[in-house]
Amino acid sequence: MGLRNAFAPVIDLIFPPRCPLCGVATVSFGGGAPALCAGCWGQLDMPGGGGCSLCQAPVRDGGEICAPCHVSPPPHDGIAAATHYNAASRELVLALKYGGRIALAPLLGQLMAERLQGVDANWLVVPVPLHRWRLWRRGFNQSALLAGHIAEATGAGLLVDGLVRRRHTPSLSGLAREKRAQVLIGAIAVNRRVAARFAGAQVLLVDDVLTSGATSNACIAALRSVGVEKVRIACFARVVGAQLPHI
Ligand SMILES: [Zn+2]
Ligand SMILES: [Zn+2]
Repeated sequence: MGLRNAFAPVIDLIFPPRCPLCGVATVSFGGGAPALCAGCWGQLDMPGGGGCSLCQAPVRDGGEICAPCHVSPPPHDGIAAATHYNAASRELVLALKYGGRIALAPLLGQLMAERLQGVDANWLVVPVPLHRWRLWRRGFNQSALLAGHIAEATGAGLLVDGLVRRRHTPSLSGLAREKRAQVLIGAIAVNRRVAARFAGAQVLLVDDVLTSGATSNACIAALRSVGVEKVRIACFARVVGAQLPHI
């Protein structure tokens, strides 16, 4: 560690860190993790503050909860998105997920952690699970990598295998909203070996992209069934509006 730090300026001079989106030489982000260049930072669409505390939608009368959430409360206790889904956030997620650029996880995890006021050692961080076949093929669960960095940044406990996929489900890409929910019925469950830790717990559910909410709703139902009291969702990129991306 000390050695790496001592030589970091020299290494950076010979192999300057590159922006993971456009490849331009840039300065390194804490500990040598990649940083975006100023131009690419500007491409990310960060949600503004002051929205509904449950769904982040703008609230017209300045209240804490928007009218639709009042009328029909969501199953979760709040969503914290680091970015709105757009071309730049999509490219970062694709590079992490399918390009194997796991060095991006600290940067993305840090951007997510910055949105998580109130998450501390009393919380448990749990990633959205991958089925073991997919895990075996990809070699890692991107949400688990993000969850690890968030737990580190917030001091929360980490339960990487708190949730499991009981059966393999087809990719949700290209499926309509209702179909997504149908496909997931009974597919996600709490890992019985750690179920006792969930009674009365506050859980931060971590996903890379939040689209229709079908997957997170299935996770939340499983968590509530074993007595979880609060569930907040943290995602890197949130799709707003009706469009469902192919990712
Ligand atoms: Zn760039
Ligand atoms: Zn709302």
